[in-house]
Amino acid sequence: MSSMIRPIATRRAFLSASSLSLAACAQRRTRIATALAAPISPRAARVRVSPDRVIRSTVGLRPFRPAGFVVRAEKLDTKTVIHNYGHGGAGITLSWGTAQLAVDLAPRGSVRECAVIGCGVVGLATARLLQELGYSPTIYAREMPPLTTSNLAGGLWEPVSVFDHARVTPEFRRQFAEAARTAFRRYQSFAGEPYGVRWLPLYTLARDRAYITPPPTSPNSEVEPLYPEAGQLTAGRHPFDVPYAHRRHTMLIEPAIYLGALIRDFYAAGGKIVIREFAEARELTGLREELIFNCTGLGARTLFGDSELIPIRGQLVFLLPQPEVDYCTIGPGNIYMFPRRDGILLGGSFDRDVWNTQPDPATTERILRENAALFGSMR
Ligand SMILES: Cc1cc2nc3c(=O)[nH]c(=O)nc-3n(C[C@H](O)[C@H](O)[C@H](O)COP(=O)(O)OP(=O)(O)OC[C@H]3O[C@@H](n4cnc5c(N)ncnc54)[C@H](O)[C@@H]3O)c2cc1C
Repeated sequence: MSSMIRPIATRRAFLSASSLSLAACAQRRTRIATALAAPISPRAARVRVSPDRVIRSTVGLRPFRPAGFVVRAEKLDTKTVIHNYGHGGAGITLSWGTAQLAVDLAPRGSVRECAVIGCGVVGLATARLLQELGYSPTIYAREMPPLTTSNLAGGLWEPVSVFDHARVTPEFRRQFAEAARTAFRRYQSFAGEPYGVRWLPLYTLARDRAYITPPPTSPNSEVEPLYPEAGQLTAGRHPFDVPYAHRRHTMLIEPAIYLGALIRDFYAAGGKIVIREFAEARELTGLREELIFNCTGLGARTLFGDSELIPIRGQLVFLLPQPEVDYCTIGPGNIYMFPRRDGILLGGSFDRDVWNTQPDPATTERILRENAALFGSMR
């Protein structure tokens, strides 16, 4: 049973223990997650779901590896290549964290000029971090925003769909937890309109069982304590007609605004972007830069022959924007809703190893039907 239902006394005792470090505080928060002190309104603005409010459907391919993302260095002739790809359904979430891990692998005293291959969220975070550390990166990419997979993401800060549990190694677990913590801290510095990042309550909804916190065997157990004000809600304390609702706070990162802001920051710091496709890894040896960061997402499958890297296809349906909607939902089942400035985003689909990027009308119909049932039955 989840430890979320520990009584409030535990929290009071915990809060009075002033000698605890902040890290310890964060870790214990999970155990007392149901002890929500803040009053929660049982009412919220209803999402208006109907086919005539649809403004577009999109399909993106999550770059997924069962063993998780790759951050490691290798030699390619005289060049040092540092890989940073394969973030699955959480490339936005983890980008600053894996960027930090990747930059930490750069040889000491290496030349300041370097190349970043890829201009999605991972390449941009890596390039910006390099600039902050005094490097002069040039980005080389086949596509830049708005044409990257990163622009087709939902944008919730949540490190999910990143690995298969059976394939997790202790080293990956360490990298994952460190990347998540780094990125969680970093995104908080972007909160506000200019970067399109804001805090919102996230309701996880279910018909069959209460929210279960990740067990200690899961790498996500190290991330769960980061979420503030998290806990199960009893009926009447939330606006949804489902038996189980869990609420926590996280950040919504709007890809169109955020990626545009990163590109502006990159140019303002003197960065250059070159539109160029590399057909094979050997072509990278022709670059003038000796230090190369490979942030090619799903492209790394062909470029570096990583056949473990597969797509998880995801289709989204956007409705007319509703600025009054100020919460996100996940569930029941596979559906989710994020209230973005560019439209109410409805998901979801997770089609493993499917490469088709055309929206499927039957999937659109299902996403609309299931979300209509949820929001149509709100109190
Ligand atoms: C429907 C959907 C919902 C999602 N929701 C979320 C979410 O809520 N939160 C979250 O964190 N993540 C989410 N994701 C996942 C996220 O989109 C990805 O993890 C992320 O975009 C990966 O970023 P990237 O920079 O590695 O790849 P990309 O954005 O694909 O960028 C790769 C870059 O490399 C370049 N490139 C590739 N191959 C070559 C080559 N051979 N030569 C030159 N350039 C090359 C490309 O042109 C591009 O510039 C979602 C994804 C989908 C599809």
